[in-house]
Amino acid sequence: MTSATKPPPARRFDHDRLLIGGKWVEATGGRTYDVPNPATEEIVGRAPDASREDMQRAIAAARKAFEDGAWRRSTPRDRARVLHAIADALEARKEEMRAILIAEAGACWVSHDTQVEWPIRHFRTYADLAIQFPFEQMLPAPPIQSPMGTWLNTSMVHSAPVGVCGLIPTWNFPLFVLAQKLGPALATGNTMVVKPSPYGPLINLWVAKLIDEVADLPPGVINWVTGQGAEISEELVSNPSIDKVSFTGSIVVGRRILAAAADRLRRVHLELGGKSAHILLDGDNLDMAAPSLAAPTFFHSGQGCAMGTRVLVPRALADKAVEKMVGFVGNRDIVKIGDPADPSVLMGPVVREERRRAIEAYIESGIKEGATLATGGKRPAGVEKGYFLEPTIFADVDNRLKIAQEEIFGPVVTVTAYDDLDQAIRIANDSDYGLAAMITGTDQVKAVEVARQLRTGNVWINAGGNIGNAPFGGFKLSGIGREGGVWGMHEFTEVQHIVWRS
Ligand code: NAD
Repeated sequence: MTSATKPPPARRFDHDRLLIGGKWVEATGGRTYDVPNPATEEIVGRAPDASREDMQRAIAAARKAFEDGAWRRSTPRDRARVLHAIADALEARKEEMRAILIAEAGACWVSHDTQVEWPIRHFRTYADLAIQFPFEQMLPAPPIQSPMGTWLNTSMVHSAPVGVCGLIPTWNFPLFVLAQKLGPALATGNTMVVKPSPYGPLINLWVAKLIDEVADLPPGVINWVTGQGAEISEELVSNPSIDKVSFTGSIVVGRRILAAAADRLRRVHLELGGKSAHILLDGDNLDMAAPSLAAPTFFHSGQGCAMGTRVLVPRALADKAVEKMVGFVGNRDIVKIGDPADPSVLMGPVVREERRRAIEAYIESGIKEGATLATGGKRPAGVEKGYFLEPTIFADVDNRLKIAQEEIFGPVVTVTAYDDLDQAIRIANDSDYGLAAMITGTDQVKAVEVARQLRTGNVWINAGGNIGNAPFGGFKLSGIGREGGVWGMHEFTEVQHIVWRS
């Protein structure tokens, strides 16, 4: 290739320092690690690779900031001002944010409402909640009578900050998830250490810098520690100075966090995985339904916790539904696969080669266990760089198969036929997970009746999606607790009853 035809070098988003106690410091030994763009495999930045000692320093700084009390005692207005300042700065630097999310998370433009706009809305919601949340509520208190006389009690419920929080957001929708933790943790007066996923340090450190520039927080209120090793996470979830952990990730790690919390009865909030059913009620508009039923095979390459990856269809419609879904995802004019930097691309890569291999192993197991591979299952032909996979649909899937029971976290959907709605509900609920479910159909009353019988934290009917002030979280192994709106505020507060005699 001549220099005239060489593509320009990838834009870099390097960070060499962690934020601990209000100071930007190198990780022990100045260690950093490289972060690839999953679409091109080019290095797009480096991030500090922290040690256990770095994490201990960050936790100590957060503890000091909490005990010093400046933030804990700040007024709701002060907190709202900080949260609005963060939202304003994100809004002003949206294009920079977009560029990092494309390069680091492989975020196609079609996902940018969730990736780029929602984090800003979340910070504004928590700014409003900082003011509206009932931090102090008076309770009616009847007069007390005793042989000594009669007196009045005054009774108040005070919502106090939990204390020092360990926040562990994830990489797939990194800012969306971060804002759902950081927003309420700040709005309720906590101090914290943020430990991003090893796959997503660059966008986190970019936000850390932005907040440091605009928010005017006391030192140590938010500390940011990035790194590849498990020991920094283990320290964060087991250090006696940590009062609460808010984690988004897998069940395996969720269990470890719960176990580590046991000795100090640490507060734990877990947003874990999902294996959500998408129930098609009728065939009134299969052409409209097909893209939505097939969406997890292309939208963010199926890397979402609440995607309808188990499609349940009436038996009489099963063949037709699969045909329409396969037809839609096979149309490369619409489902264009490529570098998310191109706004016309609908499907990008998965985040890492190790993730691609794990997804391929699931595809292999589906074939071996007898499911029909209706489309996909391979790496796209002619694509040499990037961790791409084809949209993949399995038909005739028994719900007990591994591909229908385990979370694949890749562009794979299973289709299972049902005979009547009771059976559809049984199949939908036959899962260890309980994060979300989707229902598509013309009869909204029936859809809501079905929704009530599903054992999931969220049900989205006819592509109704998540909204900012609503609770989000799971039943069963999908987690403990809820984030979003006032539910997120409750997660970061302790209830204190104060009563006095007047
Ligand atoms: P993961 O559980 O493998 O890793 C998550 C984080 O845990 C990383 O930051 C890692 O460093 C840290 N970690 C590793 N060992 C630890 C330990 N012993 N103690 C504490 N932390 C430790 O998850 P992942 O692969 O990054 O994310 C994918 C998972 O996240 C999927 O299961 C997905 O469904 C889930 N997810 C859930 C939601 C939700 O809101 N429910 C949203 C997005 C992703």
